[in-house]
Amino acid sequence: MIYKRSSELFVAAQKVIPGGVNSPVRAFKSVGGDPIFVKEAKGAYLYDEDGRKLIDYIASWGPMILGHAHKPVVDAVVQKAQKGTSFGMPTEIETKIAELAISMVPGIDKIRFVNSGTEACMSAIRLARGFSGREKIIKFAGCYHGHSDSFLIQAGSGAVTFGSPNSPGVTTGTAKDTLLADYNNIDQVKALFAANPGEIAAIIIEPVAGNMGCILPAEGFLQGLRELCDENGALLIFDEVMTGFRLAKGGVQELMDVQADIVTFGKVIGGGLPVGAFAARAEIMSHLAPEGPVYQAGTLSGNPLAMAAGLAMLTELNENPAVFTSLKDKTEYLHKGIEQALTESGVIFTINRLGSMISVHFAKDAVVDFKTAAAGDNDTFKKFFHGLLAEGIYIAPSAYESWFLNDALSYQDLDDTIAAVAKVSKTL
Ligand SMILES: *Cc1c(COP(=O)(O)O)cnc(C)c1O
Repeated sequence: MIYKRSSELFVAAQKVIPGGVNSPVRAFKSVGGDPIFVKEAKGAYLYDEDGRKLIDYIASWGPMILGHAHKPVVDAVVQKAQKGTSFGMPTEIETKIAELAISMVPGIDKIRFVNSGTEACMSAIRLARGFSGREKIIKFAGCYHGHSDSFLIQAGSGAVTFGSPNSPGVTTGTAKDTLLADYNNIDQVKALFAANPGEIAAIIIEPVAGNMGCILPAEGFLQGLRELCDENGALLIFDEVMTGFRLAKGGVQELMDVQADIVTFGKVIGGGLPVGAFAARAEIMSHLAPEGPVYQAGTLSGNPLAMAAGLAMLTELNENPAVFTSLKDKTEYLHKGIEQALTESGVIFTINRLGSMISVHFAKDAVVDFKTAAAGDNDTFKKFFHGLLAEGIYIAPSAYESWFLNDALSYQDLDDTIAAVAKVSKTL
């Protein structure tokens, strides 16, 4: 048995941690089998507790865009740690990373740091409600904005409907303020505005979706949302927790030239430490406490270690924007190789890709929203996942996740991955 030690560790973990994990998708529920425990990582590789080396396509679900244990980031954290790890008082480094982030992202004047993407999105919604004096929000089926109550809502059977909670513990009172539409369906959004005049505070969206595989906004879709928000006095919130500082320095706003009112960040902005952030123009941010009445706080927010990691990461990306081109080229190369291998095997598939995000769906039709993503064949995905794992390739253990490339991946790694896909695809 290859995963002897991982299995033992999982047994021990399950006794003291629900499901043995601190975040559900790590548990391999949707692909079967036991999760692999990681011991350490360097560059593009993970080393598990059984001594196997894996090529990593998850990058900690996005943050490790320059590879694991990237030296400038590690050095920054180590140096900071020696000077104290938390004060609960303002520090200069918070202003430094704020200035840098604001200079990289279009259209934001002020930014507030928190500890996770969940917190960022939760706070962004509160701010949008406080700013507009309205209560309802629109989200899109299949978009993930963290696990706060307002977002754990899925569509009912009707295409446009009031949401019902999809987790016990979320109250129907909360659910009724979250309205749902299908990704890429502007008509549904129009209908929601028409049915709820003067009530919608904001639309929140992953401007390129990464939590139902990678799904791109259709031509004009984001622009259409921008116009509907303007016509109806609602705010447009881009959840760039996944895409921010990954698809471009300025995220999707820069890439697709659409300006949101509030932008949320996480993942890359923390360089692998727990950081989230939300940002907007001054007029909106001034509603936040202590400047304004909308309350939001955090004992460890702006933590020096987290800020040091984030500042080192953003500095690298800011000074070396060629990283984004390099990542795009590598992802395109991988796309072509995988496409050829899967085509030769005769398996039915669709690949979506943008920048360093790519996903393979075992679906016949174009994957443009949650429904078309869900139409993919999960049994084929399971075989694909476990087949690749046996070949030393680690992709996300879920058919609904994008792959995230990191720039430590070499073309040899990509060739090895393509060869593994070719081998595994013959078994599908
Ligand atoms: C990961 C993610 C979140 C949640 O971030 P956490 O740090 O896991 O709380 C929110 N939105 C998007 C788009 C994400 O990908």
